[in-house]
Amino acid sequence: MLLNKVRLLTPGPTPLPERVRLALAKDMIHHRKRAFMDTMMQVQERLRILFGTADTVLPLSCSGTGAMTAAVHSLFTPGQRVLVVEGGKFGQRWHEIASQRGLEVTSLAVPWGKGVEPQAVADALKADPSIKGVLIQYSETSTGVLHPVREVASITRESNALLVVDGISAVGLAPCPMDAWGIDCLLTGSQKGLMLPPGLALLALSPRAWKSAEANDSGCFYFNLPAEKAKLAKGQTLFTSAVNLIIGLNESLDMLLENGLEAVYAKQWALTMLNRAGLSAMGLTLFAPEHFAWGITSVLLPAGVDGTEVVRIAMETYGVCLAGGQDHLKGRLVRVGHMGWVDWADALAGLYALNRSIIAAGGHCGSRDYMETAMAAYRMALSGKPGQALPLIHS
Ligand SMILES: *Cc1c(COP(=O)(O)O)cnc(C)c1O
Repeated sequence: MLLNKVRLLTPGPTPLPERVRLALAKDMIHHRKRAFMDTMMQVQERLRILFGTADTVLPLSCSGTGAMTAAVHSLFTPGQRVLVVEGGKFGQRWHEIASQRGLEVTSLAVPWGKGVEPQAVADALKADPSIKGVLIQYSETSTGVLHPVREVASITRESNALLVVDGISAVGLAPCPMDAWGIDCLLTGSQKGLMLPPGLALLALSPRAWKSAEANDSGCFYFNLPAEKAKLAKGQTLFTSAVNLIIGLNESLDMLLENGLEAVYAKQWALTMLNRAGLSAMGLTLFAPEHFAWGITSVLLPAGVDGTEVVRIAMETYGVCLAGGQDHLKGRLVRVGHMGWVDWADALAGLYALNRSIIAAGGHCGSRDYMETAMAAYRMALSGKPGQALPLIHS
């Protein structure tokens, strides 16, 4: 077989490093015994660094959406009003979860591909002081947008509304220090930036969010956050822990923290620059021109080229797994993931596969030296030259 390696350039699941895979393969241990509890305590210390919080970061056995559900059910009660920033598929998911919980939803519609205007959040909160929470994505994976969460937090922290951030495709990829920024709830999933299989979610609350969760007596049996917190103080979870995933998480956190988070973010920024430069050089239109994510890059295809076909060819011919567009962008957008255990060589493979697949699907694709352009942008981003290096959006 000539082609035997599949490259997952998708927004989850993502490739796993060998170290994590070996950790996942270890013998099963018991979740109420010393060895596991010690691991859990170490994981907790490391998660606090990753989340930038002095408070507890809860591991929950569920996919990312489970943590979104847990947040909505724990922080709000039926009849309360929340503001939902809706600029994509995952913003819509917040709306659906909140509606199902019986919350009143004020929708703040944002054009797909754009970041929310922080002033619009401030205006909405001013217009309706009954709003108890603002639900937002940090990285809106369906469009490749990175919402300006830091600026939004500077508004919500001065208000009575809790800021609840879906960081599923952002934590471990772009800086998001929750205490420093004033985020009230930050959550993520295991299968994106954290280099783990799917199945584990992580969630942290601010002190004022904990007050809401503790006062809430209409929560949910499975997602009982105050009870989870009490259990975690003993290195355990309320129900059977996702033992292997926790052990794998300890390993991936060790890797992420090895050279400091700065180095992780610098690499993600450089991969983002690589993709944006390469895709632009191919003549494709970047879908998120201004506020863009650090783990996924989305591009519009040339007119007449079917994106679904492009994604299929890239997979079948080149073993490169890309993501298409969702909803009205289906067939028009391609989303190139650069999260998890992805490096520059994977990213170049992705550019090449996309280029050739677009041509195979009947399109044509800009310059011949898009790879050189991409690598020049990557090197420049890592060089630390003024204007090129990591933007200092963190604390
Ligand atoms: C992937 C993703 C989700 C969904 O996570 P699941 O693990 O599939 O439940 C939610 N929000 C964002 C921003 C995502 O990227």
